[in-house]
Amino acid sequence: MSVFFSQKLAALKPYVPGEQPTDKNYIKLNTNESPFPPSEKVKEVINAGAIDDLRLYSDPDLNALCSAIAEYYDVDKAQVFCGNGSDEVLSFAFLAWGCNGVAFPDISYGFYPVFADLYGLQTNIVPLNEDFTLDLKDFNGKAGFIVFANPNAPTGLTVSTNEIEELVASNPDSVVLVDEAYVDFGAETALPLINKYSNILVVRTFSKSRQLAGARLGYAFGCKELIEDLNRIKFSFNPYNVNRLTALAGIEAINDNVWFKECSDKIVNTREALKTALKQRGFYVTDSKTNFVFASHPLLPKDALYKGLKQNGILIRHFNNPKIVNFNRITIGTDTETERLIEAIDRILEEVRK
Ligand SMILES: *Cc1c(COP(=O)(O)O)cnc(C)c1O
Repeated sequence: MSVFFSQKLAALKPYVPGEQPTDKNYIKLNTNESPFPPSEKVKEVINAGAIDDLRLYSDPDLNALCSAIAEYYDVDKAQVFCGNGSDEVLSFAFLAWGCNGVAFPDISYGFYPVFADLYGLQTNIVPLNEDFTLDLKDFNGKAGFIVFANPNAPTGLTVSTNEIEELVASNPDSVVLVDEAYVDFGAETALPLINKYSNILVVRTFSKSRQLAGARLGYAFGCKELIEDLNRIKFSFNPYNVNRLTALAGIEAINDNVWFKECSDKIVNTREALKTALKQRGFYVTDSKTNFVFASHPLLPKDALYKGLKQNGILIRHFNNPKIVNFNRITIGTDTETERLIEAIDRILEEVRK
């Protein structure tokens, strides 16, 4: 830190992304990316001369991209916002609506407390139940901005749309943000609620289910006024927040429903097979509806599985938070990668049983 750094931000603890080591070729199951490439249509449009247009700024209103998303999800274009990854959408939302404090679960996406810290917002932390389920009623009366992920990360667990509607209806003075980064892998979306309530924002990403993590593209749905709020922040920060190549890639990705379905279905099938295989080997596995599993094994406490797999050339994610210290988050890879994972786990278990 330099002597010039803001005193107010000196204690800020930045978000720590999953490691990206280059010392060898790992099977990467640590950052919930798709194991599959983007749609062929994405490649075609980028290769068809889009690079020449990079001399020009991107469209600050992202008209074509927002229209494609609005059409696909059958909402009004004025109900759509796009950002440089959903991380940027979340960041704008915290800045826009967090001034009276922000409430989120104790075990959830690691960026929520970082944004709260960055903007100096008061936080209200809602503990998950012992079994990692989230009781949305625990948010009631916590004035301010309410944020949670559905499905939650890293637990993979869901809440029902009925429960979300109850929360939104009974807290009309709070904006409720539902982070649906993983919704495409089998959870129920809260999207229809945006037509009924003016205090819900549904946030999505192209990173997990549309194979574009590296393109950085997130989006959000809400009533026209909430979207206007986000645009106020965006036009005060970076009017060209989504670059040209990413906007084109997003349009093609959203329109290629066949590839989207094929990839999502494969991941869901592999996830269920992996859950079964892990349970057969003595793991406790949550009922994840995402593109990862969340698992612990009595013989592999703390980061034992993480370390063992890393030695075997496989990266997974382990968090040091005491409440989940014996758990690991494992991204769903291809079937071949998953076979290699199971083989490595069998070797590790054999070793500890000796
Ligand atoms: C991955 C993830 C994000 C961030 O996604 P980007 O669009 O890549 O910024 C947001 N929320 C949750 C819960 C995530 O897991």
